[in-house]
Amino acid sequence: MTKKIMHIGIDDTDSRKGGCTTYLAALLMEKLCDFHVRFLDYPGLIRLNPNVPWKTRGNGALVLRFSYNRVFEDQIKDTAVATLERLSAINEKGTDPGIVFLQMDTIPNELSAFSKKAESGIVKIQEALALIKKFGGEAHGYNTCRGVIGALAAIGETLTADYTYELISYRRPSNWGTKRQVNAESIFHMDKSLAPLTFNNVDLEKHRVIITPRGPDPILFGIRGETPQIVKKAFSLVKSLEPVDRWAIFRSNQGTDAHLQPVQSMCNIQPYSSIIAKGVVSKTPKIIPLRHVIFSIKDNSAEVDCAAYEPTGDLRKIARELIIGDYIEVYGAVHKAVGTKPLTINLEKIRILSLAEKTRLENPLCPKCSKRLKSMGKNQGLRCEGCNGRFDDLRKIFFLFPRCLRQGLT
Ligand SMILES: [Zn+2]
Repeated sequence: MTKKIMHIGIDDTDSRKGGCTTYLAALLMEKLCDFHVRFLDYPGLIRLNPNVPWKTRGNGALVLRFSYNRVFEDQIKDTAVATLERLSAINEKGTDPGIVFLQMDTIPNELSAFSKKAESGIVKIQEALALIKKFGGEAHGYNTCRGVIGALAAIGETLTADYTYELISYRRPSNWGTKRQVNAESIFHMDKSLAPLTFNNVDLEKHRVIITPRGPDPILFGIRGETPQIVKKAFSLVKSLEPVDRWAIFRSNQGTDAHLQPVQSMCNIQPYSSIIAKGVVSKTPKIIPLRHVIFSIKDNSAEVDCAAYEPTGDLRKIARELIIGDYIEVYGAVHKAVGTKPLTINLEKIRILSLAEKTRLENPLCPKCSKRLKSMGKNQGLRCEGCNGRFDDLRKIFFLFPRCLRQGLT
């Protein structure tokens, strides 16, 4: 009996009308148990570059890693392909499912590098196919076959750096498309008792639950957290008013900065990438109708616009207070120039590295009575309206204003 290790990557199986790649993976895991596989890790939920132009839904690919008995190899692959074909929205335009099988003990560096690229930038299908061929893998692609890229990228992302967990629970198929029945108060209670170890459960500002999706997909709710134990505990605290069909815990790069690629010089900033860049504020923030804030930063190679949009409340408040000369690090997705609108970084986070001094030229206070002096005209010195004193040798001086910003990350 020879044991081998297999990695299965799956991507882009869902459409706006339903489906969910995580559900497909959860179901496939159950089926694979028939072949006595031994899973080597939690199923991986790998968020790829959210900024690719053809994606409007969440961009998550899945990976399963397990050891298996060689005699089941063909059956395992057949089962995976059949499950994908049964649960994918193959007939929907814009859904381009892909599944990749790789048999190897450890993930080569070349493949990890490919994944990093797919998480923060744009990769071509040819690059994916060349790697699959090189490593003796097998790929099935449907429609444009774009899903093969994400499927391979998921296999290459072993989540050795930063990662989080998500427990996703699923609905009975008979309930798909109906309103989700979950007790909202239990979710607020769960969030309060387990934060910050679980996160993104509720929007406290708007008093809204955000773990339940709205669409026709099979997900009942998903809970993100720092450990498998904590998301399981959180799950036990949520009162579902409809039956939970099944649930699974995924290990994920969600809630990390994996999708952001540091750029050394701003002239290297490319549209459709997601980046981290450092620069000095070069244009005063402007507040634009619909309440977003735009400003510019530059380094010695280029100047780029940055935008903080409505949903990110604190970020907008910070952005509004920036002044020319502040040295900051920005995190976000790069949107291409459109018409008169230049290349723009849509901010996810700002790190303030150093603050410029905010000063204003003002008349000094009266040395006798401390009232603010008045100018008498050009080169005519200053006068006090309180005590009527004249001060020919006093001039305007720079006043330092306190900044309401602090160094650090928002
Ligand atoms: Zn005076």
